[in-house]
Amino acid sequence: MIEGLTFEAAPEAVTRPLVSLIVPVLNEQDAVIPFVQAIDGMVQSQWPVLEDRPRLEIIFVDDGSTDATAAVLRGLCAGDKRVKLIQLSRNFGKEAALSAGLKASRGDAVVPMDVDLQDPPELLRPMIDRWQSGVQVVNARRCDRSSDTMFKRSSAQLFYKAINSLADHPIAEGVGDFRLFDRAAVDALNQMTEHSRFNKGLLSWIGFRTETLDYVRP
Ligand code: UDP
Ligand code: MG
Repeated sequence: MIEGLTFEAAPEAVTRPLVSLIVPVLNEQDAVIPFVQAIDGMVQSQWPVLEDRPRLEIIFVDDGSTDATAAVLRGLCAGDKRVKLIQLSRNFGKEAALSAGLKASRGDAVVPMDVDLQDPPELLRPMIDRWQSGVQVVNARRCDRSSDTMFKRSSAQLFYKAINSLADHPIAEGVGDFRLFDRAAVDALNQMTEHSRFNKGLLSWIGFRTETLDYVRP
């Protein structure tokens, strides 16, 4: 070691993991700011000690919005380094928007979330805790479908019955895109070349150490 030089690793880079939130948005001009505010409030209350708090990257994927969503997001990006924007050239659908976000993400863990707060931000803390104790995929399962219509409930049930009668790897009922993925799982997903994607199926197929947390969808 050369005398007089000190090597100090930036403690933040070593100890605080980066978590990417991927948020596909289509015509959500009124929802994006409340979403970021809800995430901020949750992070501050659930990780009161700054050193314990994960660093965040919030990637919005604008899926061809025709309202002011993109303008609102550009304003957010200008004032908040954590916020990033991917703008798709037209509406490709949520699955494609999610894929674009997964490819761009840099996080040690990645969590796709809907912007309408139906994926409760409060679940991030328990998901991240499970991940930090070694789980690679943390599913969030709705244990209550009372916020859905009767039609949505029975059609969903029929759907899972049908698809699981065909699938080699069963698709968990009630688990949507709201899950935490370790970087290893994200890299595996990013290697898949399917263009027309059914993420729920692909997500169940890739494997990895997986756990499921139950929640009630607001
Ligand atoms: N979304 C999108 N592209 C679409 C449709 C929806 O990016 O073509 C986004 C939408 O803005 C929201 C998320 O995907 O953030 C989920 O959409 P929605 O709330 O309509 O789905 P649901 O709650 O019915 O599953
Ligand atoms: Mg919704």
